[in-house]
Amino acid sequence: IKIGVDAGGTLIKAAYMKDASIEYKTFSVSQLALAAEWINQFPHARICVTGGKAMLLKALTDPAAPEMVEFEATYQGARYLLDKEGLAEESHILTNVGTGTSIHYLGNGKQHRVGGTGVGGGTIMGLSQLLTGLTDFDEIVRLAALGDRDRIDLKVSHIYEGRTPPISGDLTASNFGRLSALASSDSISKEELLASVIGLVGETVATASVLAAAQFNLSSILFIGSSFNHNDPLKRSVEGYTRLRGAEPLFIGKGEYCGAIGALLNL
Ligand code: ATP
Ligand code: MG
Repeated sequence: IKIGVDAGGTLIKAAYMKDASIEYKTFSVSQLALAAEWINQFPHARICVTGGKAMLLKALTDPAAPEMVEFEATYQGARYLLDKEGLAEESHILTNVGTGTSIHYLGNGKQHRVGGTGVGGGTIMGLSQLLTGLTDFDEIVRLAALGDRDRIDLKVSHIYEGRTPPISGDLTASNFGRLSALASSDSISKEELLASVIGLVGETVATASVLAAAQFNLSSILFIGSSFNHNDPLKRSVEGYTRLRGAEPLFIGKGEYCGAIGALLNL
């Protein structure tokens, strides 16, 4: 058996090859010991680890597993998944919305990091907890899907009331910028707050990605990372905003496992 592991800031993702097919498994980073135990149950496994917590994880595996550079692993995994979809030949911007967000240029058989933003999946978790007390990712996403952003987020069309704005009125002028218009007696629901948190993250990562794409004259942006797991509100926000800004969003199945797949393919 071969096992590739991507131990990130929040989640540990494993991709392993049994016979000819790749299987997947995820642990929380708080379950580092459990993940190591799972790996150690395969006595003759070949293992490669990557990600920010790779050092911590390989200290617990027996024998210590070799490590691979995270961006290279993510790139190799993305290439593998793109190849399966018949998209590998093209150049893309790759945006990995993990705990934080990292933006890369993919093309000509190599990748390089263009930039990133600290606004990412960790921001969804942190702001959601602060604003609503909720800490469960699936519950945050479920409630966000029911929320309306209209009373919280200020759109360009709100500022240009009735007039034709110089840019699309649907663009957000100010995330969380409409609260001052509320009467003090109005209360905001958890659903509304969570929808706006996800909108803030989605629009920030989409905007940064679109700017990166323009730098390379590209329009295709591949979005990966566990932040998109069962997360329709984030997907819709990123998709809508990327299109609004003139680029083409792309999502691939198992995209959250790019790093783990890259580590697996390295074996
Ligand atoms: P990084 O790459 O920045 O080091 P990471 O690799 O751990 O971090 P991902 O696993 O890609 O990042 O994504 C983590 C994000 O995914 C979380 O911040 C959260 O928004 C979301 N998420 C999805 N499922 C869960 C879950 N079960 N528990 C916690 N967060 C989750
Ligand atoms: Mg990661």
